[in-house]
Amino acid sequence: MPELPDVTMYKKILDGSSLHKTIEKISFSDSRILKGVSVRKFSHILKGNRFARSLQHGKNLLVQVSGGSPHVLLHFGMTGALHFLERGEDEPVYTRCVFTFAGGGRLAVSDQRLLGKIGIVEDPQSFVREKGLGPHATGKELHAERFVQILSGRKGRIKTALMNQSVIAGIGNIYSDETLYQASIHPESDVRSLDSKTLQDLHGVMQRVLRTAIRSGADAEKFPKDFLLPNRRSGASCPRCKGKIEKIRVNGRGTYLCPLCQKKQQ
Ligand SMILES: [Zn+2]
Repeated sequence: MPELPDVTMYKKILDGSSLHKTIEKISFSDSRILKGVSVRKFSHILKGNRFARSLQHGKNLLVQVSGGSPHVLLHFGMTGALHFLERGEDEPVYTRCVFTFAGGGRLAVSDQRLLGKIGIVEDPQSFVREKGLGPHATGKELHAERFVQILSGRKGRIKTALMNQSVIAGIGNIYSDETLYQASIHPESDVRSLDSKTLQDLHGVMQRVLRTAIRSGADAEKFPKDFLLPNRRSGASCPRCKGKIEKIRVNGRGTYLCPLCQKKQQ
């Protein structure tokens, strides 16, 4: 499932290929991906205009359309992805929507399970407020002090809190596991059992994990050897202690950890 680092990669693809080009055509091979606006209205907003710039908040990508205030919202759900195609290049499987630019390049949104969405948002700040999203996980506003403040005294498990988009926006199942592994914290630890110093350190670890993932192109094969992600399967050797990686369920989500490195705090 695309999380913050994956969406940052899609933002880079879009910024590097699709800004300031006239959008000639918008086509849907499956318009169920479009939410809250008709195909006709969506096409009317975009046709003849250009993408001016993009903003990311958590797992959401908001692309401003020139000539007005609307933004195209891209949310990638479980299986969504963004691709830039040169003239003559085939569309990936499960392509649902294609923006064709003057000059021939195309921006394609693929989504096998169709749990992602494309929509129109008038104002990104109101969107974040209405959705009740927490601060963007790698944003300046989420400094260590704010992170500690947000989590201090919170009920429930630390993994659940990190994945809650209204607490922090951008972290999902994979990067909550990686962050807690790197911080040597058991995913089922009660948030209230973690003191301010531990939370402050967790903030630093989370920033390092997300930035490392972005630098590695969100590609698990390029991650450092001491990351959990390339070893994310039951019985794999822990890259740090040579213990065995275990799979448990936290709030119904498959969760990987090293029980030797990540001792449970009550
Ligand atoms: Zn270990």
